[in-house]
Amino acid sequence: MYPYMQTTAHAHHSRMNKISDVVSCLDGYDPKALRVDKAREAIRACLAPVAGRERVATRSALGRVLEQEIVPAFDVPAHDNSAMDGYAVRAADLRAEGESRLKEIGAALAGRPFRGELGAGECVRVTTGAVMPAGADTVVIQEVARVEDGAVVVPPGQKRGQNTRAAGEDLKRGVAVLAPGRALAPADLGLIASLGIAEVSVRRRLRVAFFSTGDELASIGAPLAESQVYDSNRYTLHGMLSRLGVEILDLGVVRDDPVLLEAAFASAAANADAIVTSGGVSVGEADYTKQMMAKLGEVLFWTIAMRPGRPMAFGRIVSGGNAAALFGLPGNPVAVMVTFYQFVRDALLYLSGRTDDFTVPLLQVAASHPIRKVAGRTEYQRGVLFRAGGAWQVRTTGQQGSGVLRSMSEANCFIVLEHERGRVEAGELVQVQLFDGLV
Ligand code: AMP
Ligand code: MG
Repeated sequence: MYPYMQTTAHAHHSRMNKISDVVSCLDGYDPKALRVDKAREAIRACLAPVAGRERVATRSALGRVLEQEIVPAFDVPAHDNSAMDGYAVRAADLRAEGESRLKEIGAALAGRPFRGELGAGECVRVTTGAVMPAGADTVVIQEVARVEDGAVVVPPGQKRGQNTRAAGEDLKRGVAVLAPGRALAPADLGLIASLGIAEVSVRRRLRVAFFSTGDELASIGAPLAESQVYDSNRYTLHGMLSRLGVEILDLGVVRDDPVLLEAAFASAAANADAIVTSGGVSVGEADYTKQMMAKLGEVLFWTIAMRPGRPMAFGRIVSGGNAAALFGLPGNPVAVMVTFYQFVRDALLYLSGRTDDFTVPLLQVAASHPIRKVAGRTEYQRGVLFRAGGAWQVRTTGQQGSGVLRSMSEANCFIVLEHERGRVEAGELVQVQLFDGLV
C-alpha cells in the first residue's frame, strides 16, 4: 500500500532502514556537493515500489503499469496468409525461365477462405490478409500477373514464399510478449486486443501530494499585493505530475510558518505515497523546516552540483500510519522543473512499479553557438533543436536565469552539459534531452 511498507505502517516502520544509513553507504556521497548521478542513486536506494493492483478494461490501461505477463493463447496471425492482392500459387509450378500459365480455380478473400486445395498448375485469387489456400506457398502480386485466354500468366523471377505472412510471425502461442512492470503504450493496447484480452491487471496508481511554500505567494484568482508573486510552481507541477499518470492531491499554498507547514506535511503524508513541495529548502530557509521535518520523519538537505537546482531536500515523512517519500524542490520556477525531470520523475516512475527502461535518452547534436559552462557541475540549459540545412542543431534559449520560466516554455529540449565539461565552442557536440516524443 505504501512506498516503504506493505501492511501496517507501525509494524514495518521500525524495520525501515534509516535514510541516512542507506545513503552514507554510497561511494562518494557528499551532501554538500552531490553529483547528479549520485543524488539519483541515493534516492533510488531509499525507495521501494508500491504494491497493490487492480483490473481495468484494456482501453483504460493506457499508461498504466502492467502487473501480469501477457502470454498469447494462440498464434497471431492464426494462419499463414497473403501479404498482397494477387494469386496464391505453388512455387513448384513456376518455370525458372519463361512465363508460367496457371488455371484460376477460385478466390480467397480476407475473412472468407478458399475451401479447396490447389493441384498442379492451379492458382487461387487472393486479397491481402486472406488465409493461404491449402497447397499454395507463394503469392504473385496482381500487378505482374496478367489474364490471357482464360489463364493466369506469371512472369519468371518469382521467389518461393514471397508475399506471404507466416502464422505466428507477430505473436507466438505460449511465448510471453509483455512483461510486468511495463507502462502500456498504444501499440501494447493493440497487441493485447489482438489476443482478444478485454481486461488486464495493472498496478494501482501512485498518489502524489504537492504544495507550494512561501509568504510571497498569491494564488491565481486573488489580487496580487505589492511584493507578491503568483504561485506558478503548482501549475507546472500539476502539468508534469498529470503527464506522469499519477493521482494528484493539490494542497495549495502554505505560508512559511512551522505550524502550518507541519500540518500540511502531516496531511500529505497521511494521504499520499509521495510529496512534492517547492520553496523553503534554500540555505536561509532550511533551518526551521529541518527541525519541523525531523519531528515527522527523516529528511536530508542536499546541495547538488547542478544548475539550476542546487538545494534540494529528500526524505520520508510519516503520518497517520503511512509513510511518504518527500521531494523538497527549490522555489525558483526553472529549478522546480529541472529537479522534477532529473530526480522526481525517475523516483515516481520507480515507485509506480515500472521495471522497464524509462531513462530519457541523451542524443548528440552540434551546438550552433558557443555555450558558457563552468566545470564542476551538471548544467541543464534550455535548448531549441532546429533544422539547419539537412541536419539538426541546438542553440540555447538565451537568458538562463532560474527564474526565467519563459526559457522552459520556449525550449524543446534540455542541453545537458556534463559535470566536468567547460565552455562549449560552436560546432561541438552536446547532449540533448527532448521534451516531447511520440505519444
Ligand atoms: P525559495 O526557494 O523559497 O527561496 O524561492 C526562490 C525563488 O523562487 C523566490 O524568488 C521565490 O519567490 C520564487 N518562488 C518560490 N516559490 C514559488 C512559486 N510557487 N511560484 C513562483 N515562484 C516561486
Ligand atoms: Mg521561499
